[in-house]
Amino acid sequence: MSDIEEHRKKIEEITLEMIKLLKTRTDIAKQIGDAKASLGMTVTDEEREDTLRTQVAKLCKEIDLDQSTASKFLNLLLNESVKVQSDNKQTHLSMFLKAKALEEEGKKIIHLEVGEPDFKPPQEVKTALAEVYDKGYGKYGPTKGITELRKILSKDSTVDIENIMICPGARFAVYLAITTLLNPGDEIIVIEPAWPAYKDCALNAGIKVRTIKTTLETKWEPSIDQINNAINENTKMIILNYPNNPTGKNLPEKLLDNIMQTAKEHDLYVLSDEIYEDYYLDDEPKKIVTYGYEKSIITKSFSKSFAMTGFRIGYAVAEPPIIEKMSKLQALSLTNVSEPIQYVALQVIKSPFEAIQENTETIEARLGILVESAKDIGLEFIEPDGAMYLFAKTKYKDFDATKFSEQLLERGVAIAPGEGFGDYKEFFRLTAIDETKLKEGMIILDTILKELYG
Ligand code: PMP
Repeated sequence: MSDIEEHRKKIEEITLEMIKLLKTRTDIAKQIGDAKASLGMTVTDEEREDTLRTQVAKLCKEIDLDQSTASKFLNLLLNESVKVQSDNKQTHLSMFLKAKALEEEGKKIIHLEVGEPDFKPPQEVKTALAEVYDKGYGKYGPTKGITELRKILSKDSTVDIENIMICPGARFAVYLAITTLLNPGDEIIVIEPAWPAYKDCALNAGIKVRTIKTTLETKWEPSIDQINNAINENTKMIILNYPNNPTGKNLPEKLLDNIMQTAKEHDLYVLSDEIYEDYYLDDEPKKIVTYGYEKSIITKSFSKSFAMTGFRIGYAVAEPPIIEKMSKLQALSLTNVSEPIQYVALQVIKSPFEAIQENTETIEARLGILVESAKDIGLEFIEPDGAMYLFAKTKYKDFDATKFSEQLLERGVAIAPGEGFGDYKEFFRLTAIDETKLKEGMIILDTILKELYG
């Protein structure tokens, strides 16, 4: 055998051995997952991960292996473990699907779990839909979106047209940003509680998530120390979402300034999901675009501001090289966002003020009612600054919100269990829906709570 053949044979054997070890590792991870579930423990245990990381770093020194390669490899292994252990988590989406199934059986359900405005999109939508055919919208189009729409949106965000890309919802924009800007083994920072898709997108792309746990006691605010402690040489992005889903929280300006400063110092991308930008109560949240940071990506949407969730249209705001990367994957996977829908969005945004104003006022009033009735029944929470939710817990010790959500659903009210947003098993999220249904839902919630725990 020649030298090269001999080496190839060895590489083959080592690779197959590694795959076998991966199988053994995955099986054990599953068993640990079952044990964690029965003990009520969370899937991700960052302390454990750090212990493993330290051991790997030590070994790298001993055997003279590049530490960053090893830690990327370790991140992939950790992600696999998280994936196999995350199967049974209840999220707002899984509760919604259960609620829908019950409705199909004829049961009446009050939806306090779902994250969409339950009012209609503006009238302009109706007119525009009727015009689409005659105007000739309905062909393939430019990947980044139709020029007129990009132009108006760029003015709104005080950027240039090259900074805008239309996407089928903010969700896809988030997906594009995470998958095209980062590589497997890279790390992102997610401040929890958080919308679950950030973590899921990263896991799907082999990217390691470092979670920062915030608490009710610290008003859901992360500290700069927490962020600094989570940053290492593999960290490439931090995700912000204010007003926040699920807490409704905005960050104090000084803290946001400090976070942006930290991101700049470490050359991190800042993915700021500003989908709830129009839903705020007192002070308009500071927009990330005002920092002029070249590594920021801002995601926005027509879903919430205009109650157009089902139209699937949103957009990303970023520097052209970032937009270029994201648009390559969008071209590959979608060609472009549906032209008729872009036309509808264009007509809506041309006369935005009244529609947004009206929706903002509706959400504001509903949040007020939600806060009052949550106070009345003794829930514990921070009053939201915006968005459409309230993230609360009860005064009862050992309260399990996942179990409670299941029990409440049987009595006709769907809520979103906190475990879908991170390590928050005692919390649940309530959506600010129509007043009558909201009040009815809160009465049932209170009754069942007292019945089970009182
Ligand atoms: N970001 C956040 C924080 C959300 O809550 C949601 C939807 N619930 C999305 C993005 C997705 O928005 P879109 O409908 O524009 O995809």
